[in-house]
Amino acid sequence: MTLRTLRHVIAFSAVFIVLIGQAHAAPKPGAHALDDVRILSADDMEGRGVGTPGGAKARAYIVKRFGQIGLRPQGKAFERPFTFKPKVFGKDVTGVNLVARIEGTSSSDKVLVVSAHYDHLGVRKGQVYNGADDNASGIAGLLAVAEAFKARPPRHTVLIVAFDAEESGLKGAKAFVADPPAPLAKIGLNVNFDMISKNAKGQLYASGAGPQPWLKPVLEGVARTAPVKLLLGHDTDALGKHDNWTAQSDQGAFAEKGVPWVYFGVEDHPEYHQPTDDFATVPQDFFRRAVATVVTATRALDDDLDGISRAAGR
Ligand SMILES: [Zn+2]
Repeated sequence: MTLRTLRHVIAFSAVFIVLIGQAHAAPKPGAHALDDVRILSADDMEGRGVGTPGGAKARAYIVKRFGQIGLRPQGKAFERPFTFKPKVFGKDVTGVNLVARIEGTSSSDKVLVVSAHYDHLGVRKGQVYNGADDNASGIAGLLAVAEAFKARPPRHTVLIVAFDAEESGLKGAKAFVADPPAPLAKIGLNVNFDMISKNAKGQLYASGAGPQPWLKPVLEGVARTAPVKLLLGHDTDALGKHDNWTAQSDQGAFAEKGVPWVYFGVEDHPEYHQPTDDFATVPQDFFRRAVATVVTATRALDDDLDGISRAAGR
């Protein structure tokens, strides 16, 4: 082998090693989503009740996944504890939100908050409420979005937030907006996922364009090519009515503060808030498509965040 050939071999090998390295570092966004749901909804997570060892175990898993994806915390640590009064009586409960930050590429100062709650109902009368759809599925979607934004950075700075204590009355989200890591006026949009894995008709809803019509063009654009049937709605009845989902998950805490929001989720199903909401009852093909849909939608909403903010008068 001549010296020149040797140089070529070395150069070629270097390129090859770099390519292998990249392929290893960046699997397709959402490639872990099914595993995330399976692990978070396994019996050893004990239904992820707020303030329980199961909740702490779920949190440790999400922090580990944040690390694998290469996320950095917003501030010193991912964990942001808060306390609240229980519904009936007793000692204050401590919940812990997890907040990661991905820097945006544009000079815009608007921030996009992408969220999903990781808590569920825990163990009741000896039964584990596994909460595969509610809301291990949303956390899996959140992690897939984080993977996508690490693979190709967002235009705006994105906070990836795993909320605790949603099932206690949106307590994690309320704590977040009461003491936000970025000024509320700079939060251009909250995109929230809660139950995205299960629908007999293959339908996923994007809620929010009713009261915030400026969201319609982006969401309709996403719906045209989405791999699920993406419908707009559940946001036009009087607030508090069953069919208006505004206050039914963490986006409600943002809406209350006047922060624009979009919610992705499915209609209730027989397993809703039942011990049967476990991994075995998740239709895997629909769930994969739903994850791809929320990844595409969140990218589109980031791309258009300045326009959305202007239209919203922020
Ligand atoms: Zn939920």
